Amino acid sequence: MSKQRISIKKVFKDIVWPRRNMLFIGLLLIVVNRLCGLVLPGASKYLIDDVVINKDYDMLKQLVGVVISAIFIQSVTSFTLTRLLSVEAQRLISHLRADVQKHILSLPISYFDNTKSGELVSRIMSDVEGVRNLVGTGLVQLIGGTITAIISLVLLINISPSMTIFVLAPISIFGVISMKAFKFIRPIFRKRGKIKAEVTGRLTESLNGVRIIKGFNAEEEENKIFQEGVDRLFKNVKKSLTTTAIMTSSSTFLLGIATTGIMGIGGYKIMQGELTIGDFLAFTLYLGFMIAPIVQMSNIGSQLTEAFAGLDRTEEIMNIPSEDADENRINRVPDIINGNITFDNVKFAYEDEKEVLHGISFEAKAGSITALVGSSGSGKTTIASLAASFLNPSSGKIHIDEQDLSTVFLNSYRKHLGVVLQDDFLFEGSIEENIRFSNASASDEALQEAVKSAYVSEFTERFEKGLGTIIGERGVKLSGGQRQRIAIARAILADPKIIILDEATSNLDTESEALIQESLAKLMKGRTTIVIAHRLSTIQQADQILVMDQGAIIERGTHDELLEKEGRYHQLYKYQARI
Ligand code: ADP
Ligand code: MG
Repeated sequence: MSKQRISIKKVFKDIVWPRRNMLFIGLLLIVVNRLCGLVLPGASKYLIDDVVINKDYDMLKQLVGVVISAIFIQSVTSFTLTRLLSVEAQRLISHLRADVQKHILSLPISYFDNTKSGELVSRIMSDVEGVRNLVGTGLVQLIGGTITAIISLVLLINISPSMTIFVLAPISIFGVISMKAFKFIRPIFRKRGKIKAEVTGRLTESLNGVRIIKGFNAEEEENKIFQEGVDRLFKNVKKSLTTTAIMTSSSTFLLGIATTGIMGIGGYKIMQGELTIGDFLAFTLYLGFMIAPIVQMSNIGSQLTEAFAGLDRTEEIMNIPSEDADENRINRVPDIINGNITFDNVKFAYEDEKEVLHGISFEAKAGSITALVGSSGSGKTTIASLAASFLNPSSGKIHIDEQDLSTVFLNSYRKHLGVVLQDDFLFEGSIEENIRFSNASASDEALQEAVKSAYVSEFTERFEKGLGTIIGERGVKLSGGQRQRIAIARAILADPKIIILDEATSNLDTESEALIQESLAKLMKGRTTIVIAHRLSTIQQADQILVMDQGAIIERGTHDELLEKEGRYHQLYKYQARI
């Protein structure tokens, strides 16, 4: 996995600069806010050194008025600031999440075969979350804090340069410790996101595969794996906690020393008449204003560290090229096509060196049915995936009508495509939603038509809510046959020119079997179909049958032709082997 880092420049350009107006207002607000905070120490000094001594009641009233106004302005600015920036931060997260999700869905199928879905969920949901701190209060507090610290420093020097120099020493030591701590913590945070993603990934998988886990009595093994993940996370957090604790205690210690020193020096100076009591009070209060942001920085620092780590991981995924990123993809498949598919000496390897298809050539004429038969592992699914453009040939060409499939934007091709796969995926939602999924703008008539053609109404009529019946994740409440019919209705509603079909091998009850056969026949009619065929009826209906063996087509022809040939197909047919 690449380890590129986000550059400050890029963050500034992409995230900070477009929000410059808002951040500028935020900055202005925070300066006003902090200046108002500085009113209190000044007022206290004035109260003690002038007002009280002179028993000036009018001045006292004015002073209270000034302080109250300052506090009021402080509250209002702090409210506005938080609202403004938090909302902007949340908006940024929403946009970023949508961008990441959109990009992930544009990645090639091979990427999903190699990545846990839970890990991707973690990318979209938690990694992006950290970025909030970049725009949220974190950054502005950092800048605002620095401004306050500088102004306070000037005021401190103004009161007593010698006392100021005395407090600066321990503060500088603390600064150095903090810097070292951030350096140490950053890689830990980066790793944490990674561990979290892995643990989430495994967890999602195990919840999806709960039947297998229980079925093989593998809970203990699964618990162990999860425990290991949680332990790794714990160790990671523990590492950073020690550092945080060192920072907290060293700040207490060093600032304690500074305060004690001031008491000593300040007390001495007051007795010497070099310092008024009001000055002393103002000094301690300003000191608080100078120190607070420095102490806060450890907090803000880790927030920003987290934000950068999250951005790193987000960026990593955004940098993976999308399916259409190939520079050869410059054409669009027209809106109306014949749907002729040709494979011309197509070779394919999932992994380098291990070729699984060795020069496949055939033509699936527009509107015809091409059936793929052959033993398991012979390459049928791979051919279907290539035809669906889920995979790209390692060499050789696939043409749709006259167009080379490797030169077109895939969505322009796939809008002509309908797929019915063996493990038909049904989403959580109603049956109607699952069917309309393929064609959201379809009319109610078209929906009814599809539902009838696929014999979905045959069972939904018995449901109280009909098509509105909610089906669970992966459609657990339906039988295999019913799910297949929903998938077929979905494909019929899409009304594509090309159908890629992986027939279910599972044993369906005879009634379902008959209904599915009929609905499949309706689906294939008038469309170019490439079907991995298990049903005899489909095979007999096919315009051409390609008999596959070890990644090659070893026989081709119609059912009758192939039977006459008395070759492999004849053998398969005679022994009623699973083909
Ligand atoms: P069939 O559908 O005829 O059973 P497949 O097309 O699924 O055959 O598989 C053809 C060959 O490719 C097999 O040897 C299989 O092991 C291999 N294969 C299938 N999918 C992958 C994959 N994602 N990664 C690596 N090898 C694969
Ligand atoms: Mg297969």
